[in-house]
Amino acid sequence: MRMPSVQVVEIGCFEFREMPVQPPGDDEVLIRVEVTGLCRTDLKIIRVGHRDLVLPRVPGEEVVGTVEALGRRVQGLALGERVYVYPGVWCGRCPACRAGAENLCREMQIMGFHRDGGFGPYVTVPAKSVMPLPDGLATDEAVLAEPLSCVLNALELGRLQPGEHLGIWGAGPAGTLLARAGRALGARTQNMEPDRRRRDLIGGLETAGEACFDVAVVAVGDKGAYREALAHLAPRGRLVVFSGLSPADDQPAVSFNQLHYQEQTLVGAYGCCYRHGQAALAMIAEARVPVRDMISHRLPLAKLDEALRLVETRAGMKILLDPWQKETTS
Ligand SMILES: [Zn+2]
Repeated sequence: MRMPSVQVVEIGCFEFREMPVQPPGDDEVLIRVEVTGLCRTDLKIIRVGHRDLVLPRVPGEEVVGTVEALGRRVQGLALGERVYVYPGVWCGRCPACRAGAENLCREMQIMGFHRDGGFGPYVTVPAKSVMPLPDGLATDEAVLAEPLSCVLNALELGRLQPGEHLGIWGAGPAGTLLARAGRALGARTQNMEPDRRRRDLIGGLETAGEACFDVAVVAVGDKGAYREALAHLAPRGRLVVFSGLSPADDQPAVSFNQLHYQEQTLVGAYGCCYRHGQAALAMIAEARVPVRDMISHRLPLAKLDEALRLVETRAGMKILLDPWQKETTS
């Protein structure tokens, strides 16, 4: 069986190609993709490339679907079951995996980066990466578990405590999830965002003013935001490096004396672990982190070009893609 999927053949463009549907190996499952999320990272992958991207590639690391076929050795999953796919495949043996940081596994294979992802009607994934959706959780909302997982990893690394003041630069999808997850964890939050519509959704401000934060997370790829975040960090504060910068901007002006005298910490955060996916699904299902109002568009995958423009111009919030929806019905 061959089905049309989005494939990035070279950096800067993508094509719709008839691709063979991979039957699952012994420990794999074939997933019928019900919906896939589009994020700024996909824009980066397609337009300028990414450190972890191996071409040619079907992108798509935010996948929710139903189990279509099971490998011979797979247990605990049923045909037709609705599932969320943790995008990583990890070795389970290396020091990072043994320390519970499989996102840093030396053999890490990320769906949509190293292996084909969800920008097509089907995706084949290892059974151990798959988690059944909690009952009652809407399929579209479950897609937000992927970005929320990355947010939970960032807040864990920032050692956010209840009652602390959390400053977030940016109020796009990631910045909004950071604020909602921070509040769910008992923190007071403040988003800094120049775009009024975006900051209104989360009650953010244009600038940090006189604020001082115990934890600052930068969710915009802007070196000026990093400078500001450092300037508003409390003694013993933690600055989480959540968004990457373009190589040209990656020349941070950090005062080591500031870190020394204020006992502050800089910590990076990249991706998420399997456990963050489980926690994220539970938080969304229990409405501790509401996400429905963040979904601004649901488009057929065939309209990927239009969807990418919405991300590029920040005209939307969370954009979902449906590989089965006919272009004419949207
Ligand atoms: Zn490993």
